[in-house]
Amino acid sequence: MVHVRLEELEKYAEENNVPIMQKDGIDFLTNYIKENNIKSILEIGSAIGYSAIKMTLVDSDIKVTTIERDVNRYNIAVKNIHDFNLSDRINIINVDALEIDLNDKYDLIFIDAAKSQYIRFFEKFEKNLNTNGVIVSDNLSFHGFVEDDSKTNNRNTKQLVKKIRKYIDYLKEKPNYKTIFYKMGDGVAISIKLD
Ligand code: SAH
Ligand code: MG
Repeated sequence: MVHVRLEELEKYAEENNVPIMQKDGIDFLTNYIKENNIKSILEIGSAIGYSAIKMTLVDSDIKVTTIERDVNRYNIAVKNIHDFNLSDRINIINVDALEIDLNDKYDLIFIDAAKSQYIRFFEKFEKNLNTNGVIVSDNLSFHGFVEDDSKTNNRNTKQLVKKIRKYIDYLKEKPNYKTIFYKMGDGVAISIKLD
């Protein structure tokens, strides 16, 4: 049963420290996809294919293209997608997202990869957004450090917090988009293209 196997992916992620979306975050995202009749999705950061599979399972005519640069995770994702019989609806590409140019357009672009590069992902892929499309960004809370970085003294963490704050300001000021920030999961933003 599909339900059981999704739990297996969750267990694998937990045991192997793969940062898949948290439960309320992925539920929020799949609900959004359902309610807004989203049919084509581009995901940056597949990991083991968990969120791509969850998003595809929302409806039988949804298609997802997902990009993963890590070859080990890519291979695991390919196997998981195959096990769910979704190979014909999920196109997974093993490449650094910053090194590929896509021509297709999507209803929703989900950015869930290296947090230091979010502005670059947004700038690179916004041309691939359909009219009235949305860009969803994950991990804008970064375990709560973005709201309060006195909780850490780690230099890398502080650097990353700075980058995420910069991205949040970028989203707030981005012309032609309206961004709403949600506390769900690890912090999710939905940026709606207005033109
Ligand atoms: N969306 C997944 C979790 C993704 S974790 C889920 O919720 O199930 C983030 C992934 O992004 C990691 O596997 C990492 O290897 C990948 N990644 C980071 N930077 C990337 C880049 N520039 N291009 C492609 N993948 C990237
Ligand atoms: Mg994430």
